[in-house]
Amino acid sequence: MLIFEKSRAGRGCTLFPPCDVEPAAVPEKDKRELELHLPELSETEISRHYTELAKKARGVNDGFYPLGSCTMKYNPKIDEDMAALPGFTEIHPLQPISTVQGCLEVIQTAEKYLCEITGMDSMTLQPAAGAHGEFTGIMLIKAYHESRNDSKRKKIIIPDSAHGTNPASATMADFSVVSVPSGPDGCVDLEKLKEVLGDDIAGLMLTNPNTVGLFDKNILEITKLVHDCGGLNYYDGANLNAVMGVVKPGDMGFDVIHLNLHKTFSTPHGGGGPGSGAVGCKAFLADFLPSLMVVGEKEKHFEKPKKSIGEMKNFYGNFLVVVRALAYIKTLGKEGVPEACHNAVLNANYMMDKLKDIYTMAYDEVCMHEFVMSLEDLKHKTGVSAMDIAKALLDNGMHPPTMYFPLIVHEALMIEPTETESKDTLDDAIRVYRMLYEEAQKNPEKLHEAPVTMPVGRLDEVKAAREPVLRYEWK
Ligand SMILES: *Cc1c(COP(=O)(O)O)cnc(C)c1O
Repeated sequence: MLIFEKSRAGRGCTLFPPCDVEPAAVPEKDKRELELHLPELSETEISRHYTELAKKARGVNDGFYPLGSCTMKYNPKIDEDMAALPGFTEIHPLQPISTVQGCLEVIQTAEKYLCEITGMDSMTLQPAAGAHGEFTGIMLIKAYHESRNDSKRKKIIIPDSAHGTNPASATMADFSVVSVPSGPDGCVDLEKLKEVLGDDIAGLMLTNPNTVGLFDKNILEITKLVHDCGGLNYYDGANLNAVMGVVKPGDMGFDVIHLNLHKTFSTPHGGGGPGSGAVGCKAFLADFLPSLMVVGEKEKHFEKPKKSIGEMKNFYGNFLVVVRALAYIKTLGKEGVPEACHNAVLNANYMMDKLKDIYTMAYDEVCMHEFVMSLEDLKHKTGVSAMDIAKALLDNGMHPPTMYFPLIVHEALMIEPTETESKDTLDDAIRVYRMLYEEAQKNPEKLHEAPVTMPVGRLDEVKAAREPVLRYEWK
């Protein structure tokens, strides 16, 4: 039942004191046309309503949640405690700068650590999400070419395995996208890459390990080829779990990078909450970074970089996400960061190895932090699709993996266990995946009906995407 349907006129829980300031004049054009009709409920009812909703949702605290390319790992509660400190939560972006020196130090220190982890020289924490970071990074590349009066460079190369936000970001920055196919090994096809290189190329956007969970062994050659033709290399570091503390994108030949602090660095995500798409770059691009940057040692203040591309977000980004990231890095330390990475890779390989005798792996190689299975064969033989298996997993107490992505693998299930799961949890998941495989052979009909234990069954996802109902119509 929707909260609107529970509303009863006259019920409520907040009594505001009479207004003791002059009401501000609202320009006619900004006034609502319809009455603001909010639901009226008591505090008890509101509290119960949201608790009920929370029980229907699944999150990392409910169980295994191996959503590939999303890194749904457990976020240590201490990071949440740090982000809840009043010195961080009760500040205002316009208060005197001398009173928030500690917060500026948090920003500077987080930038320093993230630069160290990624092999970059400068970093901005302003962008609010991964895609926002991509757009920022591509704008840096654009500003660089413009500053050299190199106006021919209108194309960005993106492999066909890329995350969908990559071509979207490049297009938004007014570039056209050149797609390069992956070879049979799942990595960039070098010959095909060479064919598209030229003096019209602004740069390359790459995820490494890529979205099929493989580390591109030719990475140094790829980035050199792009540099040799005058282009820059952009690293989509949304999923840094696979390399953090072990390899630096800066050493792989990348000039610009974005990170998803809300995947790798301890901010819970999903549902559109605040995120941070931190963007790092090599020194020669630092002058183009968004305004404002924190500078200074003793008296920290903000400065606009010389040739800044401008503001990407109001004020300084989602600051509390940065606090969590810093707390995360500091609690893990120099040994803990690579250890988390190793365990993420180990867990993915363990699961892959225990499933590959029955499920077809898209690429039968050692994987990084995630692996992709193709259920094409299974669907052909039994009629059971990746969607059926995913839905049946819900009935078995686990969240499905990412489905039907990356697009280059048919009937794809993309599993990212993350480092925060125990061997027991992985063994249990392996048992369930194997059991469902058996079920697909014996009883495929049953799997078409799944899920049967959830608050809702199969939803019409296409209709939901094409005809979203975003507004309640009061009767
Ligand atoms: C999640 C992800 C993004 C986009 O991040 P958002 O914060 O959702 O905008 C980009 N690239 C890759 C590889 C990702 O996994």
